Amino acid sequence: MRNELYIDGQWVKPVKGGTCDVINPATEELIQTISAATAEDVDIAVKAARRAFDRDGWPKLTGAQRAKYLRAIADGIRARQSEIAKLEVLDNGKPFPEADWDIADAAGCFDFYAGLAEELDKNAEEVIALADDRFTSKAVKEPIGVAGAIIPWNYPLLMAAWKVAPALAAGCTVVLKPAEQTSLTALELAAVADEIGLPAGVLNIVTGAGLVAGQAIVDHKGVDKLAFTGSGPVGSKIMAAAARDIKRVSLELGGKSPFVVFDDVDIEQAVEWIMFGIFWNQGQVCSATSRVLVHEAIYEALLARLIEETEKITIGNGMDDGVLLGPLVSKRQHEQVVAAIEGASKAGAIVACGGTRPEGFDKGYYLRPTILTDVPLDSDAWVEEIFGPVVCVKPFKTEEEAIDLANDSRFGLAAAVMSKDDIRAERVAAAFRAGIVWINCSQPTFTEAPWGGYKESGIGRELGRWGLENYLETKQITKYVTDKPWGWYIK
Ligand code: NAP
Ligand code: MG
Repeated sequence: MRNELYIDGQWVKPVKGGTCDVINPATEELIQTISAATAEDVDIAVKAARRAFDRDGWPKLTGAQRAKYLRAIADGIRARQSEIAKLEVLDNGKPFPEADWDIADAAGCFDFYAGLAEELDKNAEEVIALADDRFTSKAVKEPIGVAGAIIPWNYPLLMAAWKVAPALAAGCTVVLKPAEQTSLTALELAAVADEIGLPAGVLNIVTGAGLVAGQAIVDHKGVDKLAFTGSGPVGSKIMAAAARDIKRVSLELGGKSPFVVFDDVDIEQAVEWIMFGIFWNQGQVCSATSRVLVHEAIYEALLARLIEETEKITIGNGMDDGVLLGPLVSKRQHEQVVAAIEGASKAGAIVACGGTRPEGFDKGYYLRPTILTDVPLDSDAWVEEIFGPVVCVKPFKTEEEAIDLANDSRFGLAAAVMSKDDIRAERVAAAFRAGIVWINCSQPTFTEAPWGGYKESGIGRELGRWGLENYLETKQITKYVTDKPWGWYIK
């Protein structure tokens, strides 16, 4: 396991020598310590990224040349997929099959952006048709510069890939700060980058606290673009700080996403997708469909099956076979989710199942998957992101009411609808005020498709070609192509 900072192609100790603890959430044991970077380390990292961008020529490589590095990173990740997935389980707590899937997706993300880097060679320039034929003009895509990426703990390596892969493909260089709780796999990414010979300074990984290392990236004048995934309050602070130097900024901030289930559905399939929508990754998913709206005609029957299946979920250490729900990521997250459930009860909601620590687990940040009903619409449990395995279920009468309830949120990341009536499902999908909409499913995510939120769920889009645009500037190059004098001053 790595525990130093990766700056300018070297493993280095932080200038001030600080460390943070890495805790296994399944056992509460200390796994090791990692380096806690301060502003001094971030400054060295940003300067290395600047040099790699401004002088060493990373942005001058062709897309095809950069694609070779990206594909090598993808292969490097896959070559030790299982080892990295185990590290992710140790660090984050998620069940191994989920971690294994994440790591494969992370590798796939590098492959995908390798393809887009190659395409950039063909489509970086676009000829602009001008009404005035004395001029020709073209629009040219160029990398923004140094990207500062700050990521959360819920999909540690995958979130790193979502930012690093498009940034490198575009020709940017990167300083990445993983979440303090889950930095181990980002350090493995650095190890892979090092092994495949990624030029020094192109990717720098600084571990440490958000308020120290994260803030230093946000404030650094040498950073041109900030890409952040995490909580709303921090996202808002980052956007405000970015405003000082007009840094480009993209934010992905989570939500309180609705799932509307009509009365013509197959109840078994609905229960399956509702569970996948909220219990996958212990519900620590920005797009989790945490507000489930069920047509009143099937509400009681569906709720009964949902409770029955939820109580059957195998809870345990993510490394154990058959486990479908691991511990939450940290003591703090566990406390916050438990407090949210207590708050819901106090506000009048009914805890239909879960809400407590599972029996037989004295250690580890475990929580039974939880279903809340009768949740008041003005309570925090209905309005605020809980970021745990906690779902609110509510009946509705009409399509109009369901859409109103679904959209009555300051967030707009995701929304899902289930119905056998395709015309109705499409109509509801169109009515949702959200950036990601699922019909007859919840959560499947594809590297090719745009990802991001409406309203307070963020700004900008990741993934797909939109994710590449995040790291590109558009330059206009206009040429005067006639010999005729311009003749304004000099007649
Ligand atoms: P967070 O504080 O927003 O953390 C996200 C990242 O930002 C981490 O790397 C964090 O560093 C860093 N950070 C924190 N303060 C910063 C600052 N002032 N400047 C720059 N970077 C900063 O989120 P959290 O505390 O981990 O989780 C809190 C809540 O956020 C969760 O309960 C959940 O509701 C939400 N959340 C949403 C997502 C999502 O995917 N949208 C993901 C995770 C959490 P540290 O390493 O010190 O944390
Ligand atoms: Mg934090």
